Amino acid sequence: TSVFEKVPAAPADAIFALTAAYKADTHPNKVDLGIGAYRTNEGKPWVLPVVKKADRAMVNDDNLDHEYLPILGLMPFRMAAAKLILGANSNAIADGRVGAVQCISGTGAVFTGAQFLARHYPVKGAECYISKPTWANHRAIFEGVGIPVREYPYWDPVTKGLDLKGLLGTMQTAPAGSIFLLHPCAHNPTGVDPTPEQWKQIADVMVAKGHFTFFDCAYQGFASGNLARDAFSVRHFAERGIELFVAQSFSKNFGLYSERAGNLTIVARTPQIKDQIESQIAKSQRAVISNPPAYGSRIVNLVLNDPQLNREWEENLSTMANRIIDMRKALFDELTKLGTPGKWDHIVNQIGMFSFTGLTTAQVKVMKDKYHIYLTDNGRISMAGINTNNVKYVAQAIDDVVR
Ligand code: PMP
Repeated sequence: TSVFEKVPAAPADAIFALTAAYKADTHPNKVDLGIGAYRTNEGKPWVLPVVKKADRAMVNDDNLDHEYLPILGLMPFRMAAAKLILGANSNAIADGRVGAVQCISGTGAVFTGAQFLARHYPVKGAECYISKPTWANHRAIFEGVGIPVREYPYWDPVTKGLDLKGLLGTMQTAPAGSIFLLHPCAHNPTGVDPTPEQWKQIADVMVAKGHFTFFDCAYQGFASGNLARDAFSVRHFAERGIELFVAQSFSKNFGLYSERAGNLTIVARTPQIKDQIESQIAKSQRAVISNPPAYGSRIVNLVLNDPQLNREWEENLSTMANRIIDMRKALFDELTKLGTPGKWDHIVNQIGMFSFTGLTTAQVKVMKDKYHIYLTDNGRISMAGINTNNVKYVAQAIDDVVR
């Protein structure tokens, strides 16, 4: 007999199960609109040219070795990541009150911040508010560290846009000092972001209620193609003197998915408080991963700290962002041509990797069974899976399932 006999089987992760189903499908016209990973117009993964360059420089660098990184990670990478999100002219950085911790990509950065809050956030019984809907891991991570999770309204199914009133209302009524998890740009799964004006209103309420801001930034530069524009919300909050955490992922904007390059940027009230927080995170990190991996962070570090490579990276970012923006337009045009029932301008108005189409679970099932087009049950499509070869086919399928 086994001591584990009574362990119940857990369900497979929905999004990775979807990828497996797509791979197993032998239909020639199959389309993968599931997982959020960039694809070229040929439907292939893309190694960014600037990443290839950095990679070659590393191979030829005899000074590099495989020694352990410090517990908090590669120092110049951490600083460059903080500067990337807060801006080169950040007052908080100049004041010396910005900390940074290299983490296991964006997921690890959210976990690291959440674990710190579970242990040290002083507001008794504080709960974490996540958007409805959001990336499924948000709930899993916060509940996993023992912080109860609640939801704030976000998506308005009627306008297929932001439910600002609902969002602000919940922020107003949440107990003072609650934790709010916010997507700074390219909201996953809806692709709907607040405008700069709306972010100011959100910041007003966050300050008035003394809530804690936790940004999860997985798409800086990938959303609009412009690094500063995608960081507006975070920079606005920091400029107002708000204490905050930002989880940063380099999976999408560097195409470094498997290398797990991420960072948690900490904006604290004073340099001393920043040190206190970093020291506690170092203690926790030692017991979880001991020290972060070097490969991905070295690539990001090389690129961010070299002006020429940095420019090339911005060009690569534009290539990805613009192809996705073009595909939004192409899909919208095809649906318009077909006279598909309903309003579809949200496809072009949404931003980033994903579009929340408004398709129902039943319609998604027909997309899969009849057309071999794979997307998540909530009707989210990864725009990266669309290209000039399949956009007509996808539009025809959508047209068919909504009629
Ligand atoms: N947060 C959000 C909202 C995301 O969409 C993602 C990527 N799917 C992540 C965090 C983190 O991804 P990773 O761990 O690969 O950096």
